[in-house]
Amino acid sequence: MQLRTRIAVTFLALLAAIIGAALFAVSAANQSNAQREIDRQLEVGRLVFERVLDGNRRQLTQAAQGLAADYGFLDAVASNDAATIGSALENLGARIGATLVELVALDGRVLATAGADAGAGATASPNSPSLHRELLAHGTSGERRTAISVVNGHVYQLVMLPVKSPLPVAWIVMGFALDQTSVKELAAVTGLDVTLALHTKSGWRAAATSLPEGSASRALTALGGGSKADLDLITNSLTLATDTAVPVTAVLSRSLADARAPFDRLRERLVLIALVSFSLTAVAAFWLARNITRPLQALTSAIESVRAGRYDAPLVIERRDELGTLAEGLQLMQQAVESRDRDIRALAYTDRLTSLMNRTAFVGGLAEALAGRAGPIAVAIVNLRRFRQINECLGYAVGDSVLKQVATRLTEAPALATHLARVAGDHFAAFTPLGPGASLEHWGTQLLERFAKPVVVSAQPIDIDAVVGLACAPQDSADSEDLLRCADLAVERAKRDNRTLRVYEAKLRVATREQLSLLGELQRAIDENELVFAFQPKLQLQTGQVVGAEALLRWRHPTRGLLMPSAFLPFAERAGFIRKLTRWALTAGAAAAAHWAREGRALNVSVNISADDLADPNLDSHLRQALSAARLPGDLLTLELTESGFIGDPNQALAQLELLKTHGVKLSIDDFGTGYSSLSYLTRMPVDELKIDRSFVSAIAGSPQATAVVQAAIEMGHSLGLSVVAEGIEDSNTAADLAALGCDIGQGYVYAKPLLLPDFEAWCSAHDAESARVTLVPPTDTVVTRLRRRFRPPATG
Ligand code: C2E
Ligand code: CA
Ligand code: CA
Repeated sequence: MQLRTRIAVTFLALLAAIIGAALFAVSAANQSNAQREIDRQLEVGRLVFERVLDGNRRQLTQAAQGLAADYGFLDAVASNDAATIGSALENLGARIGATLVELVALDGRVLATAGADAGAGATASPNSPSLHRELLAHGTSGERRTAISVVNGHVYQLVMLPVKSPLPVAWIVMGFALDQTSVKELAAVTGLDVTLALHTKSGWRAAATSLPEGSASRALTALGGGSKADLDLITNSLTLATDTAVPVTAVLSRSLADARAPFDRLRERLVLIALVSFSLTAVAAFWLARNITRPLQALTSAIESVRAGRYDAPLVIERRDELGTLAEGLQLMQQAVESRDRDIRALAYTDRLTSLMNRTAFVGGLAEALAGRAGPIAVAIVNLRRFRQINECLGYAVGDSVLKQVATRLTEAPALATHLARVAGDHFAAFTPLGPGASLEHWGTQLLERFAKPVVVSAQPIDIDAVVGLACAPQDSADSEDLLRCADLAVERAKRDNRTLRVYEAKLRVATREQLSLLGELQRAIDENELVFAFQPKLQLQTGQVVGAEALLRWRHPTRGLLMPSAFLPFAERAGFIRKLTRWALTAGAAAAAHWAREGRALNVSVNISADDLADPNLDSHLRQALSAARLPGDLLTLELTESGFIGDPNQALAQLELLKTHGVKLSIDDFGTGYSSLSYLTRMPVDELKIDRSFVSAIAGSPQATAVVQAAIEMGHSLGLSVVAEGIEDSNTAADLAALGCDIGQGYVYAKPLLLPDFEAWCSAHDAESARVTLVPPTDTVVTRLRRRFRPPATG
């Protein structure tokens, strides 16, 4: 239940209880008041009733006394003058309105009658015995009597007086009928209902009543007792005559309902007042409750919005009461929460080192820009090549400084991007709307130009080798995360291709996806023997003798066919799978060499080792296992390593190489000339062979500079006591040049492409046969004369 309803309902329930109690009390008081009032009225009515009867009696008595003392009348009685007596009686009756007048002889005979009821059977005819014998029966001379008498079911109030002359000679009987009219008069005087009841043989009967027609019996129940009591009619009975043949009782009655009527009216009014005040209170209570709860509701919804992270919810309530104070307190709290929230956000969305945005903020900002974009948006990832080396060789403090300076370069005016972030270690990101006609690549180049000059850390200049990957919304993607990924793919590809800038293309993603799924299949490839070696012969350049073979990995993929190393090796390397592949390669390479040795062909097999393998503490034991499994002497196996393997931790690499050397294997430096290793390291490495990179070898034809470099490499290798190999020889001229430069061993398409085992063996046999037939003539002229000949301007004439 809402607070508002609860307040109002509480009020109203309380009010209802109070009003109910008051009404009940008033009602109970009314009931007893009415009862008491009736009792009092009955008591008064009784007295009045008695007085009226008394008054009647006195009136009758005085009138009769007047007649009895009248001499004319006495004379008439003495002379039995019937006419005079009759008119005297008639006058008497008429004067006081008596309904009955009788002159009765002492022996009880009626002498004369008069009055309204005389002819209606209320009196006996003259000379007949009087009907009011009970009066006479008790009569003693000289006494006045009064009585209630019942004649023919009619009730009379009678007085009887003696007529004396001087002794009693007759009686005057005079009376009023207590009939319907007089009962109504009595009722009017007393204010009560009057019923005259006669006790007949068949029970009580009403002779006259002021009660409405048919209700007389209700009054009679009070006398009879037998029939069920009438609770509404309160009665008081007054016995008028008991000694007559028919007892007479007057029942005074009052209806309780009538008596209560004024009280009931009062109660009705009270109920009305209660209803009105209840309704008014209800309205007031709801109004008041709403007045209290509405600001509370406002505060509650404000708190709701604060909880939802909106701090602009209005919290101003213009009140001086507690609610006003509460609102003020909440407002302060809201501000405090907001500022704390801002701090947390700042922490959560900025990169602490560079104070640029972090990845989360950048992606959010990019999503916002994409949602409201009008034109294309350019996204770039800037990556620092060789940053790991900076960190490892110069220390993390220098690394951090470099990152900070890179951030500064990127933010320098004029601004190149609306949003700049450091999204990962040495990965920076930027985006900006591309204006009409603006070129994505031009923007990327501008970013690159920021790093044209080296940064300076502690007075030491450090070259920043930045690579930029570019993507553009909406054509590449309309999703911020995805766009960032596109730029990331572009930067990765740029690094792989040794370029500084690359724009994203859909095929990059496809390739990645394929390679990822390939990676999942690599383990299966090992288990299912899908990996094979292609062998490429290494020949002695002077003699043409095959002295060895380089084992090059191929994957016989069940659905994609024969896969070249470039299709899966880079990802195997990144996913940390290369060590497993190398273990396989060592085993397979040793097995091949052992197989040929058993067949009498002593071929040294070269196996490629990745940079990451040099950091593998298990490499040594894998090599030992491979050699012992094939029962191969170490000197029939060569491990080819690239210089990049020495750069990370040269000392560790050196230790690893020395360990490998203990097995008697030969070590070769592959792709020589492309790495960064310094010559001083080279002199310390326990290597046996130097493989000049293909890029130099292929450049010899037509480039004296390249030839000079190759010559220097050969001479340096020889001076270190190393055997020098040239790889990627594609034509016989180059082969001859290399032989002339003193290079020891050659390898390349000019002799054979890498061949699967049966093809390689067939090639070897064919080559053996050929060698037996043709005897290679060693070159006679010196390198210098050969080169002079080649680059000499054409002879004139
Ligand atoms: P690499 O060690 O420099 O191997 C020589 C690459 O040059 C081979 O490519 C070979 O086919 C190619 N090649 C040989 N002669 C010529 C030529 O006259 N002209 C041209 N244009 N190319 C020539 P491949 O087989 O695709 O191997 C590529 C790279 O994959 C290898 O370069 C090596 O770094 C890596 N690799 C191959 N097998 C393995 C392996 O078993 N383990 C590891 N870790 N790396 C391997
Ligand atoms: Ca190699
Ligand atoms: Ca190579």
